[in-house]
Amino acid sequence: MKLAVVEGDGIGKEVIPAAVEILDAFEMDIEKVPVELGYGKWERTGSAITDEDIETLKECDCVLFGAVTTPPDPNYKSVLLTIRKELDMYANIRPIRPLPSVKGIHERNDFNFIIVRENTEGLYSGIEEIGDEVSTTKRVITRKGAKRIADYACKLANNRMKKLTIVHKSNVMKSDKLFLDVCRETATDTGIVHRDELVDSFAYNLITSPWNYDVIVTTNLFGDILSDMSGALVGGLGLLPSANIGDKYAFFEPVHGSAPDIAGQNKANPLATILSLKMLLEWHGDIAEAAILEEAIDSALNMGICTPDLGGKYTTSEVGNIIAKYIRTRL
Ligand code: ATP
Ligand code: MG
Repeated sequence: MKLAVVEGDGIGKEVIPAAVEILDAFEMDIEKVPVELGYGKWERTGSAITDEDIETLKECDCVLFGAVTTPPDPNYKSVLLTIRKELDMYANIRPIRPLPSVKGIHERNDFNFIIVRENTEGLYSGIEEIGDEVSTTKRVITRKGAKRIADYACKLANNRMKKLTIVHKSNVMKSDKLFLDVCRETATDTGIVHRDELVDSFAYNLITSPWNYDVIVTTNLFGDILSDMSGALVGGLGLLPSANIGDKYAFFEPVHGSAPDIAGQNKANPLATILSLKMLLEWHGDIAEAAILEEAIDSALNMGICTPDLGGKYTTSEVGNIIAKYIRTRL
């Protein structure tokens, strides 16, 4: 496997090395290709991501990505939006599952759901007109875009509890009617039990009764917000992994951003990135390695080995180090 490794900015420079140390512990046949992207590169060179960078990413089988800072500068083109579009990774998969010894906001921990977020259109279309008096962003829903994310979500649901929730706001935004209709049709055609909920009441229902959900499919911005919110269910933003999947490429990154407030202090929680690495291994078919990694994470957490956000006293690199060590003993 040829793997592009992008640290990016802020805590990306800390959580990625921790995950790479763990990957190295498996001694697999992987060629790692470091790629520099992000705000730091923009400040240094005037460009956050170049055409050559995109080519390098495309030459790899998949990408392990930390985080990049996106400044609110209208001239700055978002690195993540560029990559998702160029590599056409339309499905953003965000599993939300409690970890051992980590408390979220509920006593109950019998929930395990996945947010399937459309990743290329919706309000993140990038079609904008910015003015002093009026600024607009165009929300784009296409049949093709809705269909492929609905197919992905139904396939996933078919391998799980065959239960799909379609989240939308079609009563106010008529563009969502197309999304809803296509998702409903696809679910009906594939024999998936489905229901739909309006995003506002859904947010309440998800945070109060997460055990009622299995696979959730929604548009770009809603998926973004709902998944950050779901961090509260499992104990924090530092615990949420994600995969961006297209027909050709795959890209794995923590849900959190570059967290400039804690960057450079070696205290960021690397588990979101390490769990993203686990998704990468599963995607690549390295099921045994993924299982050992899960065991290693669980063991670390059960021994109280965690960063300050989870109440622990360990640094980012120590957590990576201890998990890597555990893996070496298991091989
Ligand atoms: P960005 O613009 O890059 O998204 P942000 O300011 O939105 O940056 P996030 O990374 O989204 O920052 O983080 C939001 C909050 O959650 C911050 O207070 C941050 O410290 C915390 N946080 C995020 N990731 C982690 C992590 N891995 N470990 C500990 N705390 C984290
Ligand atoms: Mg953020």
